[in-house]
Amino acid sequence: MRTKKERMDRRRSVRKRKEKMRQPTNYKPYELPEGLKVWDPKPGAHKIDIISFIAGKNHLVCDEGEEAPDASYFVHKNVGPKNKDILCIHKHKDEPCPVCEYVQKLKQQPDYDDDLVRALSRKRREMYLIRDLSDGEYYLWESAYYNSFGEMLENRMNSGEEGEYDLYWAYDEGLSLRVIFEEKSFRGHLYSNPTSIDFKPRAKQYTEAQLKKQPCLDGLFTFKSASEIESILFGEDDVPKQEEEEEEAPKPKKRRRRRPDPEPEPEPEPEKEEVEEVEEEVEDEDNDPDMAAEVAAEEDPPFDDDDDDEEADSASASDDDDEWDDWD
Ligand SMILES: [Zn+2]
Repeated sequence: MRTKKERMDRRRSVRKRKEKMRQPTNYKPYELPEGLKVWDPKPGAHKIDIISFIAGKNHLVCDEGEEAPDASYFVHKNVGPKNKDILCIHKHKDEPCPVCEYVQKLKQQPDYDDDLVRALSRKRREMYLIRDLSDGEYYLWESAYYNSFGEMLENRMNSGEEGEYDLYWAYDEGLSLRVIFEEKSFRGHLYSNPTSIDFKPRAKQYTEAQLKKQPCLDGLFTFKSASEIESILFGEDDVPKQEEEEEEAPKPKKRRRRRPDPEPEPEPEPEKEEVEEVEEEVEDEDNDPDMAAEVAAEEDPPFDDDDDDEEADSASASDDDDEWDDWD
């Protein structure tokens, strides 16, 4: 028989373990403004407002200057030996994306590793600015789209009659949301999965001045150039340079690190041919949203599952975020 104290200690250590499994992980493809925390909803009911902001030039849907409810983005997760999340520059900038090209190259091999292809394929995620009505604080929240909050919210919005929920995000005529989360586990990580969303009238609306003070979420994205992405993909980004220096403890190594996949190298082919073939296929895939959705739905964990490298995000806010200090 265990004593009461032993039983309590045991429970405490289970709780501690659970907390640890919930820890947010990092190398995110955006910079968190100083003072803004990432929302990590615990299982249960939460009442929030989705806070709109003025879209910037990187917004994928809204025009610059429009009031935007959220910011969608496309990310390749766990790229390279350091498991970094990299924005897809094909989707965001219409530039050739080395990760998309690599995925296409893998798929051309006979008996390619389907798991690897899915893991490296880009995923759609949504970034929100929310206000948690239990503490009145503003938070950044990011979540998977397919089979998760984004898709659920869109379905819920469309369930309204005559567009009654269409403007849930509008600063001056929006709605509050009651979201219920349940705890789930995915590959050893615990996360809160949304199971229902209800719209409620807001107790208080926001002002135009408040709208204008909110951080532009698509302005937080950190894009890498094609050559930087290649270095990350193939583990050649160990030599510290430019912004990498600030974010990561430099661990210079002379030897080349392993390729990102356990598979043999693709057959060497003339470079020109590769690029042409690859671009063609990437475009085809874009014309097939269902396929992208499929990949994302099956594989995108609704939380961030990177390995913990550094506590980089809170320390790496940009210099020009003074105006965000005084939201309240
Ligand atoms: Zn890509």
